[in-house]
Amino acid sequence: MTVEYHTSKLNKKVLSLGVPARIAKFSAISVVLGIFAALPIALAGEAKALQVQVSPETPRLGDTISVVVNLDNPANGSNVTVTNGDQTYPAYEIAPQQYRAFIPTTPLEKAGTRNVQVSFEGQVQNLSIQVRDRKFPIQRINLPPGKAGVEATEYELKRAAEFKAIRTPEKFWDAAFLAPNKGPITTIYGVRRYYNGKFANDYYHRGVDYAGAAGSPVVAPAAGRVALVGKVSQGFRVHGNVVGIDHGQGVASIFMHLSRINVKEGDIVKPGQLIGAVGATGASTGPHLHWGLYVNGKSIDPVPWRDQAVK
Ligand SMILES: [Zn+2]
Repeated sequence: MTVEYHTSKLNKKVLSLGVPARIAKFSAISVVLGIFAALPIALAGEAKALQVQVSPETPRLGDTISVVVNLDNPANGSNVTVTNGDQTYPAYEIAPQQYRAFIPTTPLEKAGTRNVQVSFEGQVQNLSIQVRDRKFPIQRINLPPGKAGVEATEYELKRAAEFKAIRTPEKFWDAAFLAPNKGPITTIYGVRRYYNGKFANDYYHRGVDYAGAAGSPVVAPAAGRVALVGKVSQGFRVHGNVVGIDHGQGVASIFMHLSRINVKEGDIVKPGQLIGAVGATGASTGPHLHWGLYVNGKSIDPVPWRDQAVK
C-alpha cells in the first residue's frame, strides 16, 4: 500500500466526521507512521473539544466497534451517551476523563453506515462509521421430516437471557483473551445455515467451536466473575452443562456442552484458570467446546479479542 492511498482514504474518512483538513492530514500521517493505533478525532466547533476515537478503523460485520471519548475537563458524574438510532450503548469510565462504549455488530445486520451520536453535557457529535460486509461460511443441514432438533427449555432461555443482560461497570479483563481450550477450531464464528434448503434468517453460529478431547481443560479466556452455572439436570437441555463469565462493562463469555464444572456462581476467575472440561452435554453431536463472546448482549467475533488486547 502506498502513502497516497492511506492519506486519501483517511482524509475522506476524517473529513466525513467534520474535522478540519489540517487535523485530518496530521492524523493520516500519524497513522501511516504507526504512532496511533486508533484514529484520533478532534471534534470541531468548541474551544474545549471532545476527543473521540473509533476503532477498528475499518470494521466489518462481527467486529466490536470501540468508541472512546476523552473529556477535556474533569467532569464528576459524567454522563457520556453513545447512541445509534434507538440503541443506546453504555459508556464506562476506563481512565480518568476517558469513557468507552462498545457497539457490537453481527452477521444478521447489513453492511454500511452506522450513524452514531456521542453526547456529553449538551455537546452532540455525529459519527459516520462504515461497516464492511463479510462473507460467512454456509452449512447445509438436512433434517428428516418431523425432526426439528432439540428445543431449549423455558428455564434455560430465561437464565441465558438474564446472563446476557448483565452490565457491570467494573472492568475485570486487562489483556488479550486466551484460547479457552487447546483443541483445533472446527467451526468459526458467524457460520450461516440452510435447513432442508431453506435459509435460516435468524441463525448464525454465535461463537467458536474447539474440538478438544472429552475431558480436556476449559480455561477462562480472561478475568471475570462467574455469573452463570447451569446443569443438564436443571433443564439446560440445549446448552448442556454451562458456565458464563461476566468480564465487566457489557462483555461476557459463555461455555457450553461441558462434562465437568470447576467453578460456582460468584467466583472471581483469573485468565487461564480452569473452569471445567470439554464434553458433549446438551445439543451436541460429539465432544467439543462452544465459546460464545457477547458484547452488550450480542454475540460478536471473539477472534479480534484474542489477537489484540482491547484494554
Ligand atoms: Zn458452537
